[in-house]
Amino acid sequence: MKIAVLSRNPRLYSTRRLVEAGQQRGHEMVVIDTLRAYMNIASHKPQIHYRGQALEGFDAVIPRIGASVTFYGCAVLRQFEMMGVFPLNESVAISRSRDKLRALQLLSRKGIGLPVTGFAHSPDDIPDLIQMVGGAPLVIKVLEGTQGMGVVLAETQKAAESVLEAFLGLKQDIMVQEYIREAGGADIRCFVVGDKVIAAMKRQAKPGEFRSNLHRGGSASLIKITPEERMTAVRAARVMGLNVAGVDILRSNHGPLVMEVNSSPGLQGIETTTGKDVAGIIVDHLEKHATHGQTRTKGRG
Ligand code: ADP
Repeated sequence: MKIAVLSRNPRLYSTRRLVEAGQQRGHEMVVIDTLRAYMNIASHKPQIHYRGQALEGFDAVIPRIGASVTFYGCAVLRQFEMMGVFPLNESVAISRSRDKLRALQLLSRKGIGLPVTGFAHSPDDIPDLIQMVGGAPLVIKVLEGTQGMGVVLAETQKAAESVLEAFLGLKQDIMVQEYIREAGGADIRCFVVGDKVIAAMKRQAKPGEFRSNLHRGGSASLIKITPEERMTAVRAARVMGLNVAGVDILRSNHGPLVMEVNSSPGLQGIETTTGKDVAGIIVDHLEKHATHGQTRTKGRG
């Protein structure tokens, strides 16, 4: 197969591993810088141009679209879909998962366990919003944040009110969540490919910190997940329409709660921690499913 990897940087661990795994299996792997792909959308025959040439003959595309380039990246991916190229994850599914409120609303509609979550726009509604999610302590999240940035634990009602006032006053979109204390500063990353969790790791926050992000000094270890956690992760990925997803779960005393479904999950932490060839499993999945013109949406929606 001829497989495109949409990535801003060929030197990133995940990009390198996907290229390597594809080449090992005899595929032609081409890394395309997402922001350098351009296209004529009004043309009768959809095309993508790259460094002066039309891209042709691709069977599949692996999107590795960073949060900051979601909008343009999804447009490029959609163009591939219009050309009949099979995407590992579809553009609509990626856009869905990148909109945190939309993602939580979709998951809740399908009855997937979530931390009690509220959101509001006007500072006038802060007191009732806090009440609605059960009062302090609570977690406040800036919607555009990544890697734990903009995630704050407010221990008291007063702290919650002032942090919320500050964020809303700065016109930041936020959500407010019940604090799952019993998770003990840990979360579980379930790596889903197709209808299976193919690898899982526990991330533990460093002492004195509640955010377990590896970028915030958290540490990763192997973990055996329960059948309920497995099922929750697979269902969450399916609800989002993602073939490949990193589903982040908190262990609460009333079962697994999904925090986030990531559409471009990193490979480094999970491969290093579990010793699994996750990149290889992803390419195997493409081999089984990538047939020309089999994009579900064909770029619609
Ligand atoms: P980001 O998407 O920026 O990583 P997250 O929503 O995943 O932000 O939050 C970062 C970390 O904070 C999580 O990995 C988890 O350890 C912790 N955390 C987030 N929400 C809660 C919550 N409601 N209760 C307890 N811990 C939480």
